[in-house]
Amino acid sequence: MKGEKKKKIIKSIRIDVDKCNGCRACEVICSSFHSNPKYSSNNPARSRIRVIRDLIADIFVPVYAGEYTVAECAGRDKYTIDGKEYNECAFCRASCPSRDLFKEPDSGLPLKCDMCESDPTLKMPMCVQWCLNDALIFEEREVEVEEEEKQEELELGLESLANKYGLNKIEDIIARMSQSKKG
Ligand code: SF4
Ligand code: SF4
Repeated sequence: MKGEKKKKIIKSIRIDVDKCNGCRACEVICSSFHSNPKYSSNNPARSRIRVIRDLIADIFVPVYAGEYTVAECAGRDKYTIDGKEYNECAFCRASCPSRDLFKEPDSGLPLKCDMCESDPTLKMPMCVQWCLNDALIFEEREVEVEEEEKQEELELGLESLANKYGLNKIEDIIARMSQSKKG
């Protein structure tokens, strides 16, 4: 839905692939920062940044988790850069049905980078702070945008569960849960 114009801070992380050595500190701290309670565990499979690594080909490419998508795309892209060949989908940020990347390993719910949204706001996202090689560079800029309704994380999670198990099943479970809470 479109609305009034408003100022918005756009946060971005510039990735200098040439400086990444594949240490995976970014994955560790991201999963730890988002564990519940915070810092109680770390598991790179739960990280919202994943490093595409190929030691033999000397390939290390950090990729941030982006949007959830219901269906995988019909085509595939294959990149060759500086003579190094990257896997299909290597640079894709989507949490998509064709692979396990960017999905919470226990529930299968999609993961998305939230720029370490927290209260109080961090000066710099955790993965940037922990990247000692300066491969991740944090930038902020102010832009004017149309006000839009934001799809909540909860809504996205429910949508993905409904796609996976069917809406009827989810409705049944919620009805049962609400009965047991009342009783
Ligand atoms: S912390 Fe930095 S150098 Fe290490 S894998 Fe992540 S992006 Fe690469
Ligand atoms: S910005 Fe925060 S949420 Fe996003 S990948 Fe880095 S540590 Fe994870």
